[in-house]
Amino acid sequence: MKLEGHSCLKRKILKVKSKNKKQKTKKYEIKHKKQKMRYSTMLIPTTKETPAEAEVVSHQLLLRGGFIRKLTSGLYTYLPLGLAAMQKVAEIVRQEMNRAGAQELLMPMVQPADLWEESGRWQKYGPELLRFTDRHNREYCLGPTHEEVITDIARRELHSYRQLPMNLYQVQTKFRDEIRPRFGLMRGREFVMKDAYSFDATDEDAGKSYQIMHDAYTRIFKRCGLDFRPVEADSGTIGGSFSHEFMVLAKTGEDTLVICKSCEYAANVEKAKVVLPAPEMQDVALQECVKVATPGMKKVERVAEFLGVAPADVIKTMIYLADDEPVAVLVRGDREVQSVKLKNLLGATDVELAPDDEVWKRTKLPVGYIGPVDIPITLVADQEVMQMVNGVAGACEKGHHLTGVNPGRDFTPAMTGDLRQITTRDNCPVCGGTLQLTEGIEVGHIFKLGTNYSEALEATFQDRDGNQQPLVMGCYGIGVSRVVAAAIEQNHDNNGIIFPLPLAPFQVIVLNLGVNNEKTTEAAEKLYQDLQAAGIEVLFDDRDERPGSKFKDADLLGIPYRVTVGKTWEKEGLVELRLRHNGATTTIPYDDAAAEIATTVKSALQAIEETL
Ligand code: ATP
Ligand code: MG
Repeated sequence: MKLEGHSCLKRKILKVKSKNKKQKTKKYEIKHKKQKMRYSTMLIPTTKETPAEAEVVSHQLLLRGGFIRKLTSGLYTYLPLGLAAMQKVAEIVRQEMNRAGAQELLMPMVQPADLWEESGRWQKYGPELLRFTDRHNREYCLGPTHEEVITDIARRELHSYRQLPMNLYQVQTKFRDEIRPRFGLMRGREFVMKDAYSFDATDEDAGKSYQIMHDAYTRIFKRCGLDFRPVEADSGTIGGSFSHEFMVLAKTGEDTLVICKSCEYAANVEKAKVVLPAPEMQDVALQECVKVATPGMKKVERVAEFLGVAPADVIKTMIYLADDEPVAVLVRGDREVQSVKLKNLLGATDVELAPDDEVWKRTKLPVGYIGPVDIPITLVADQEVMQMVNGVAGACEKGHHLTGVNPGRDFTPAMTGDLRQITTRDNCPVCGGTLQLTEGIEVGHIFKLGTNYSEALEATFQDRDGNQQPLVMGCYGIGVSRVVAAAIEQNHDNNGIIFPLPLAPFQVIVLNLGVNNEKTTEAAEKLYQDLQAAGIEVLFDDRDERPGSKFKDADLLGIPYRVTVGKTWEKEGLVELRLRHNGATTTIPYDDAAAEIATTVKSALQAIEETL
């Protein structure tokens, strides 16, 4: 009995102790959590000056707002607010990927060369792939993308049609040794990507998986509150037969999109197909090829004017380096070469316009006077050039051009095809309607890969009839960190960022404008806590700063709703609510403020959900 009593008491004491400990931990957690939302204790190093190195607005504002800091070229630290914004994107992405039936996993960032040898990309990928050796002299790379690793998983783990379809994704840091890392988070060397890979038994099923991802991406970017467009796209180095890019529409976008005004057609200009009208059947006699002196006339316009013809009558010859080999490319004088189309036609890994001095060094041809007749290097032509009659072209001799140049008779290209940039004067390849050009930022890219990787890596499964078949794959990327930058490129003003509500690191900022007044401070503190209790993400600006600089910082950070507790509260018991995106301001009685603001925020989020 005695013993029992003793142990009973001991248990009680222990229980109380543990309860106290729990309460203490809870108190600490609350304090900790609260502190995290207090401006005075947070790391938000805003600056007034626009950093000289930042060319685009998202880069400027991310630096000025203390969201990111540069470590070195293309490498950034995400400070607390930057990370918070990126996590908002990642959360939406994860929710929608899971909703679409994909499963999250995490693959290593370091990848062995052997796997890349198997796919053939160790040779093909080029200098964007950062390669290195370990202490045993084994070769590795930092993952710029994960087709090889996921296909290796698939060949080990997916054996039967019964396991299909399967879609696996990760949210992970990628490394690409970009030739020109720039624009902050828009084009880093290290960046965060969500990449997903689907595996199906048939091409038809793979098409369904592709469509599911297309729909999921549409939901993701709608839920991010962004103005975007899915467009037909080039498949690039990842390979594959079919792809779409998701573009955030913004003036600073590096991509140009063509959009039909009449139908749904939208494409990246790298892909947009130029429809060639049937040649006009005119009976023009073919002239003799004649050499004429055109001293100092290197530009199409000058030559055309001098010879009294239109620029469209000139055959423009551009020298490109395709995998380091010089190639002459012909387009009509009033057209531009589309280098991605050229790359695809040549089947090259890399093409670039040859600098003038390189042209001379490698071909001994005079820049400004190069033409297709008797040219000693590989010649390719845009389809339209092949319809030209009696054109003007360089004579491959300094200060001279040829007139009466006719394709077929005077030159025969090794290859012809659609090589030029589409323009607004072209017609929609689907409905013939009028086209419009606009700029976009690529935030997502989906590909139908087919069996490229599964065949190379021998990732097969047993089909219903017991036969081994290669898995049919798709891959799907989202630049999670780039989405943050793109959102800012699309949504900002002279005062700073205007975050779409779903991506804002905080939904509401409460400004205490009476830090030296105990009552005001208490009221602001309570409003902040009430909003938090109502499930709102609030930043409390409790700093001992002038109102002016608090307003400036709130604008710079782009928090969608700003609430001020200050003089109006002291005199009339009112707080002021201001909307960042349009500056609209209302006053609310203090007692109703928390509930009313919480309702406003929640219904704004609800409105976005309703567009899905
Ligand atoms: P880009 O043409 O812009 O170089 P990509 O076609 O090489 O892009 P993907 O290989 O399709 O890109 O990668 C998937 C996504 O990753 C892209 O849609 C983009 O949002 C993002 N991304 C690609 N490269 C970068 C980068 N250097 N910095 C930040 N995000 C990037
Ligand atoms: Mg790229």
